[in-house]
Amino acid sequence: MDRLKNKVALISGGARGQGAAEARLFVSEGACVVIGDVRDDLCKTTADEINQRAGGNAVSAVHLDVTRAADWRVAVDACTRMFGGLDVLVNNAGIFNMSGLEDTDEELWDTIVNINQKGVWLGMKEAVAAMRKRGGGSIINISSVAGLTGSTGSTAYHGTKGAVRLLTKAAAVQYGPENIRVNSVHPGIINTQMIDIVPAKMRAELHHVVPLRREGTAEDVARLVLFLDSDYSSYCTGSEFVVDGGLTAM
Ligand code: NAD
Repeated sequence: MDRLKNKVALISGGARGQGAAEARLFVSEGACVVIGDVRDDLCKTTADEINQRAGGNAVSAVHLDVTRAADWRVAVDACTRMFGGLDVLVNNAGIFNMSGLEDTDEELWDTIVNINQKGVWLGMKEAVAAMRKRGGGSIINISSVAGLTGSTGSTAYHGTKGAVRLLTKAAAVQYGPENIRVNSVHPGIINTQMIDIVPAKMRAELHHVVPLRREGTAEDVARLVLFLDSDYSSYCTGSEFVVDGGLTAM
């Protein structure tokens, strides 16, 4: 129950889905958490719900557009001001799109790259100084199985999630000597609002393909991220951790 005792975590895209599930789990393990999102009202509601359930003020909501360095500075400052520092960053915010290579226009490309790829770099850039002051930390970058394998669509999404995998390794090599660990997480098909755009027929067919024969839940991913945040993963850095029900084993 105390795997994150005395730790402070910042989660981007924490208003709903996997980010919200991570915030809930981290608090139950003793952490203080700042969640940041562009969905300001929902982010505040999520923080209030978690605080009410846990009976305290362990979660705080801030406005965070991950494409804006100034927003990241405010979010990292909030961790220090409210909870005394920063130990864990989960670069979770992301957007999904199913457009193939020729159907992707420049505006869509730039939007996806800015949020899914630039946002991860900016988050790490703003977080490392605060982690250094604590003598180390753990950064978890949420990629996807789409960062490991290709498909007929989602070209920009694949590109950004693949980039997150190697941004992670580059940062792990650079900051290992400062005890800042950096790992990527690669979820498969996870039942959140993000995949509402996937046609129902396609989702039903995918159920039969996944070896565990179900979609993952936000909590399935959150438990892996908890492991990477905690000291139980103390010798893990620069690695990719897959949580996909066996999808990429085939
Ligand atoms: P979700 O859509 O429920 O949550 C994503 C959150 O990111 C939302 O709250 C959204 O408001 C926020 N967000 C979007 N743009 C933002 C921005 N510019 N700044 C800050 N926040 C922003 O989806 P989810 O499934 O919880 O996704 C979490 C992560 O998991 C994403 O990086 C996604 O790519 C990845 N992922 C999801 C799946 C899946 O099947 N759901 C699979 C693999 C990877």
